[in-house]
Amino acid sequence: MEVTSIQNGIIIDHVPAGTALKVLKYLDVDPSTTKLALIMNTDSRLYGSKDIIKIEDAEDVNLDVLGFVARQATVDVVRGGRIVEKIKPNLPEHMVNVITCVNPRCVTRTERGIDQMFHLAHTAKQEYRCDYCDEEAKL
Ligand SMILES: [Zn+2]
Repeated sequence: MEVTSIQNGIIIDHVPAGTALKVLKYLDVDPSTTKLALIMNTDSRLYGSKDIIKIEDAEDVNLDVLGFVARQATVDVVRGGRIVEKIKPNLPEHMVNVITCVNPRCVTRTERGIDQMFHLAHTAKQEYRCDYCDEEAKL
């Protein structure tokens, strides 16, 4: 079993190489105030290279978003220094305030205080569209 450096939290494994910081941003995790460890561009049997993110005390982390930003990632839940559960993230059906609409005429751009909402429009293509204007989501 892989040695973990955290006691209670999560290990996000198989993060696409070089994208760990972007993934943290979408998960709304602030690296300056969160106890975490990043391992970047390490060897991966499956993908050649990968990033690994270890977060201590990850209760507030919204893992739904992970299916959107890092489809191939897996999550190990750690309790008492041991991996007690493995989670494969699903594509979220709906996302609120994760990404912003790029359509300059969208109501979310022209009016203030409107939540950014996207829905899964095509599962196989992993395509998300704006709830308001149907613009396709871009990472
Ligand atoms: Zn829109």
